[in-house]
Amino acid sequence: MKCDVVVVGAGPAGSMAARTAAAAGLNVVMLEKRQEIGDPVRCAEGVGKRVLCEMVKPDSQWIAAEVKGARIYAPDGTRVVMSEDRAGSEVGYVLERKIFDRALAMDAARVGAKVLVKTRALELLRKNGVPCGVSAMHMGEPLQIEAPLIIGADGVESKVGRWAGIDTALKPKDIHCCAQFLVQDSTIDDEYCEFFLGNNLAPGGYVWTFPKGDKLANVGIGVQGSKSGSGVPVRLLKEFMKSHFPNGRVVEIVAGGDPSSGVIESATADGVMLVGDAAHQTDPITGGGILNAMKAGIIAGEVAVKAVSNGNLSKAGLKEYEDRWRAEMGKHIARSFEYKEFFVKLTDNDLNQLIGSLKNEDISKMDLRGMLRMLFKLNPKLLWELRHLVV
Ligand SMILES: Cc1cc2nc3c(=O)[nH]c(=O)nc-3n(C[C@H](O)[C@H](O)[C@H](O)COP(=O)(O)OP(=O)(O)OC[C@H]3O[C@@H](n4cnc5c(N)ncnc54)[C@H](O)[C@@H]3O)c2cc1C
Repeated sequence: MKCDVVVVGAGPAGSMAARTAAAAGLNVVMLEKRQEIGDPVRCAEGVGKRVLCEMVKPDSQWIAAEVKGARIYAPDGTRVVMSEDRAGSEVGYVLERKIFDRALAMDAARVGAKVLVKTRALELLRKNGVPCGVSAMHMGEPLQIEAPLIIGADGVESKVGRWAGIDTALKPKDIHCCAQFLVQDSTIDDEYCEFFLGNNLAPGGYVWTFPKGDKLANVGIGVQGSKSGSGVPVRLLKEFMKSHFPNGRVVEIVAGGDPSSGVIESATADGVMLVGDAAHQTDPITGGGILNAMKAGIIAGEVAVKAVSNGNLSKAGLKEYEDRWRAEMGKHIARSFEYKEFFVKLTDNDLNQLIGSLKNEDISKMDLRGMLRMLFKLNPKLLWELRHLVV
């Protein structure tokens, strides 16, 4: 098989890249190793409304719930409430990703991308050492797809990056080990996303509940990799369930990793661009990555069109992708990484102090930055290390 661009992975990043490139007339093939796109879901499915709607038209079929905001709980139970439009890019809609991911892939197919499910990329093809396609296993049969450009959208465990010689290794401290239950319980609050902090509850991370309507919620945990171990996230999540949803019925269980490494040194090589989790484009403090994956996918698709038409697919020829994704999200990811590095060191007393200090403040209309500024004003000694980020 021959095409202009082969996209490996049909998550949000891959589908947006495939759609953008195919809509502009390129011959695109997108490979997905699973037989059903979007399933199993390894995601809490929360996204900010505004940014999502800038990229795709909202569709009630893939919106499970719309929430009013977020509640954040300190280890001692003190809570603060943020409104939806201010709470950051993971609060607003809770998606049904099994439908959402499939819808994005179908959009790509509708504009001409060829989508091959049950097709696992196995390695890069090379001509004179330069990547020129992908060798894959398609429904049990070997398949070679020749293409001058490969977009690696193969998620946190990206192999495309490694095959292309891009350093995508994650230190244990820079990955969050996650477990999530889909829970049915009459006590679930259908209107708010909730975040629970505490070093015993979720070392270096947090527990979340993201409602999906009708008393159903994604209840999950992310534990910093350096503080986790085999089975730890599931054990801690079960403990949380006992204390918060003792009668909750678990109808689905998933586990997965979420990169929190900050900005990757390079997301390109000759003939290769990495997008989404494969390029660690998640927010290190929240773990949210859907919107950044989609944005990066669009940028990669646009750059692919130019690079294929001018025939310069070298790393230098793909520089526009590096420049544009860094300009779009690099500063935010870098800043979030610094916050993460600081916050994972805090004790429960520190967290209680910080959240407790907001109790008498009206933060409902503040965004995360505004809240951090307020926290700094109220706790200058504790947050001194962060002063350069807050001004
Ligand atoms: C537990 C958990 C909760 C999360 N919650 C949120 C949240 O609430 N909000 C948010 O914004 N983000 C969240 N995230 C992060 C979010 O899920 C990711 O950032 C997002 O899915 C990244 O999209 P992607 O397209 O880069 O990768 P993915 O969605 O991971 O897609 C990669 C695709 O590539 C396929 N693939 C991999 N290897 C191959 C291969 N060799 N050949 C062919 N196909 C391959 C995979 O099967 C997969 O379909 C969460 C992550 C986890 C683990």
